[in-house]
Amino acid sequence: MLFSGTMTEMPRTITLPPMASGKPNPYAVALEQLDRAAKVCGLAPEIREILSQPKNELITNFPVRMDNGEYKMFKGYRVQHSNILGPYKGGIRYHEDVALDEVKALASWMTYKCALHDIPFGGGKGGIKFTPRQHSPAELERITRRFTHALGSNIGPEYDIPAPDVGTNGQIMVWMMDTYMNVVGFMDKNANRRVVTGKTLASGGSHGRESATGQGVVHCIVEWARDRRFDLNGSTFTVQGYGNVGSNAAKILARTGASMIAAGDWKGYIVNGDGINPYKLADYVQKTGSVVGYTPARSITRDEFFAIPADVFVPAALELEIGVREARALNVRLIVEGANGPTETAAEPILREKNIDLIPDILANSGGVVVSYYEWLQNKRSERWDLEEVEERLAKRMKRTYLQVSEYAAAKKCDWRMAAMGIALERIGRAYAERGIFP
Ligand code: NAD
Repeated sequence: MLFSGTMTEMPRTITLPPMASGKPNPYAVALEQLDRAAKVCGLAPEIREILSQPKNELITNFPVRMDNGEYKMFKGYRVQHSNILGPYKGGIRYHEDVALDEVKALASWMTYKCALHDIPFGGGKGGIKFTPRQHSPAELERITRRFTHALGSNIGPEYDIPAPDVGTNGQIMVWMMDTYMNVVGFMDKNANRRVVTGKTLASGGSHGRESATGQGVVHCIVEWARDRRFDLNGSTFTVQGYGNVGSNAAKILARTGASMIAAGDWKGYIVNGDGINPYKLADYVQKTGSVVGYTPARSITRDEFFAIPADVFVPAALELEIGVREARALNVRLIVEGANGPTETAAEPILREKNIDLIPDILANSGGVVVSYYEWLQNKRSERWDLEEVEERLAKRMKRTYLQVSEYAAAKKCDWRMAAMGIALERIGRAYAERGIFP
């Protein structure tokens, strides 16, 4: 027993209100996953209780001057879930649906993702509730800098390290870094470069970081194909969300000979049974902001997209996009969760019944945080690793963790999400068992 007091295991009823978008509450999904995995790995009830709430939840309201001279208020969040294994680590999201329970869920998944890979980081997440495409670069810079200033010493290179997520990129990270560096002591300036990861190369980022999450997704698909003796050459895949993760996964997967036949994003969905060139589509999205209107391909509805027969589906947009209806419609062999939390709990048994394999988010999209860790290490040691070295290290780590999850699932006779979470929770549980809680 960890504490001097005892704690009996109470069945938990998780009822949290749905989100404004009408989707289920992602924090309820995260808690359900925690409870199921705690049973699989025999996690002490008191540790489960600690992990069921983030350590810190920060909400800040701040004004920003718009290009037309008017002031506008913004709501920003930073949630720090756990730092038992190292500094809080996790992305910053700019999206109109950002809400506290969403950020809490995303922060907790970061804790489990880092623990799964045995990376010495904890879990955090943040964001601002607004629509970035409605703002000029100058406004985005002022919003980012003012938010970073509001976070103040709640982030730090050994305390809490943000990274890009939906709606943010290397440029946003560089503005965050620069703002932070300019408010800390003059002599410490350069030591603070690693306060964020996912920076551009010119400003201290790592080779391979921009494509790392998509690359990690593809490592998982290649390992799965090897296990299943499935030939990717000539196979088909679909991608939901054609941003950093979706487009990089598509470009890298296409090198195996697999063909992307459908894609979609916030604006709509497209299909072409003969294949869509992932590079040309990425250029088109760069110019127009969406996949919609790309030729040669035709527009389809979201429902039609989910029913397309293909070998692999990569959800790479937002959480809880795969509900019961989508699970019933899906006609694929494998789902690789590029997005965080894309699958509702109730959809999972349906996918299992249909023999659809699922590689869970904390494994599938972990390439991003793995290379973020490499970026942080390079900054700390004043080193610059070449692309080959980063890619080799990433490949080795992804394959090793993939194998661990596969073996754990076989040993415990559980699904892969529970296996990945079980490994993570066992690591966290051991740290708590040795350290106890203060005082
Ligand atoms: P991004 O902003 O680059 O791309 C997001 C994509 O999702 C865009 O194509 C956008 O149009 C689309 N989208 C937004 N709302 C949508 C909706 N309602 N329906 C369909 N599509 C919608 O973001 P990203 O960095 O590629 O992140 C995508 C997912 O991957 C998120 O779940 C994120 O948390 C996760 N993730 C990202 C990283 C990373 O390194 N960037 C790492 C791990 C996990």
